[in-house]
Amino acid sequence: MEEIPLWYWLIVFFGFGACVGSFYNVIVYRMPRGISLIKPPSHCPICKKRIPLRYNLPIVGWIWLRGKSACCKQPISVIYPIGEALCGLLGALALYSAVGFGTDFSRRVLKPEVWATTATMFWLLLGAYPVCAIDYKYKLIPDSISVGGIVAGLLISLIPGGVTPLQSLCGAVVAGGGLYLLGWMATKLLKKEAMGFGDVKLLAGYGALMGVTCAVETLIVAALLGILVMVPYGMIASRKNKGSQSEESGQIPFGPFLAVAAPFMCLWGNDLLNLYVKYILE
Ligand SMILES: [Zn+2]
Repeated sequence: MEEIPLWYWLIVFFGFGACVGSFYNVIVYRMPRGISLIKPPSHCPICKKRIPLRYNLPIVGWIWLRGKSACCKQPISVIYPIGEALCGLLGALALYSAVGFGTDFSRRVLKPEVWATTATMFWLLLGAYPVCAIDYKYKLIPDSISVGGIVAGLLISLIPGGVTPLQSLCGAVVAGGGLYLLGWMATKLLKKEAMGFGDVKLLAGYGALMGVTCAVETLIVAALLGILVMVPYGMIASRKNKGSQSEESGQIPFGPFLAVAAPFMCLWGNDLLNLYVKYILE
């Protein structure tokens, strides 16, 4: 393990990410059609024949078949391998960012904390995509990502060198509980629901993955990003909808902002805090 150079690990993590992307393709196809994710196994949507494993390999399968199904020669959309490749790049980026970037691709990856950060970044980067897509479209955050993040954070905390199990547990409770309290107060003040419970669970997951400090920073940066985007968006939307009574118009869900801010805070949250302390507080 210790002899394996960085470039090799990057290819391995590209492969992991592409597999996750392949799974996303299955979800995107099956969920809206009400088909179970596990049964039946991969089959051609047109002639219903089973797809052999070798053609199911992410990206490679599509290139192998030159974009046409093996059974009935129907074209397969290029969207599928592109999605897999993008997820592959995110997977490789998880490791590449954890080693601190750099141009020496033949160096060895030795430190255990690199693996802890890689696992966290892998979850954050590959989780960000479904949070953005699903929250934007359906205005909800799936529990498999938010509650799953709490479970993943606690598990990753067992890898030495990163967030400790105690920090992980405190992170989930304090970040999730704090945001819940904030939302509860805002609801009382504004007399309408101010914060979805999905956001609370998502931030609790970020607390478990990154600890309290980075989770709080994620919340602050996400709120600032949200204001930057929502104010002009709201103005345009309200101008467009002048006269119409739609209450929903101009509303953007908060989840995507949290999901975008989280990986940045995971990498640079501590630097940001140091800068803040140095220049603002001193
Ligand atoms: Zn077919």
